[in-house]
Amino acid sequence: MYPVDLHMHTVASTHAYSTLHDYIAIAKSKGIQLFAITDHGPDMADAPHYWHFVNMRIWPRMVDGVGILRGIEANIKNTAGEIDCTGPMLDSLDLIIAGFHEPVFPPKDSATHTEAMIAAMASGNVHIISHPGNPKFPVDIPAIAQAAAKYQVALELNNSSFTHSRKGSGPNCRAIAEAVRDAGGWLSLGSDSHTAFTLGDFDECRKILAEVEFPEARILNVSVRRMLGFLESRGMKPIEEFATL
Ligand SMILES: [Zn+2]
Ligand SMILES: [Zn+2]
Repeated sequence: MYPVDLHMHTVASTHAYSTLHDYIAIAKSKGIQLFAITDHGPDMADAPHYWHFVNMRIWPRMVDGVGILRGIEANIKNTAGEIDCTGPMLDSLDLIIAGFHEPVFPPKDSATHTEAMIAAMASGNVHIISHPGNPKFPVDIPAIAQAAAKYQVALELNNSSFTHSRKGSGPNCRAIAEAVRDAGGWLSLGSDSHTAFTLGDFDECRKILAEVEFPEARILNVSVRRMLGFLESRGMKPIEEFATL
């Protein structure tokens, strides 16, 4: 059981169907202690305006004993390391995930994808790379795992890549987990929920973790303290309200 889920979408992206309130209720029922709402960055079709992200600073930190991180799943835009999360958005958010999405970054070739992903990691603005095993965006797996370890960026195992999305991700994700293990980097688990019902579902991720004997010591979701410590090591100020978690 992992008490932290780091990737989910709300009705702010209208191809998702749950609200912050829905996620809190399901978190309580499933024993999730900390989660991050990570709606799509504004360059994606169907994403909220950038004000949506800036104004997330008005959210409570804790509701009914559940901790809430303010996040985004931003888009990697180019090989210069740019993402669609900038300026005041960066100041309002706790967790910046970034990844490739076809409407923003049409797939090219492995060398270009690898360059763009590493540049996003090197920018210092990104905490997690979402679904790096997407077969539509092949990358040099050893190279991205090395870069992720160097820049202290986690690579994501995305549970929905094995259920609803990005068919054919399995072999890539297994290779990524092995490469992160060997590079001594971080893995993060994301349900990538588009409805609250799948919050905290990591059954498919767990199979990969077991297959490659991935060390628990390198998984961000193992505890609230582990995740907050990671964000603090990347420059986040400690959040007082989470002290009770
Ligand atoms: Zn989505
Ligand atoms: Zn995504």
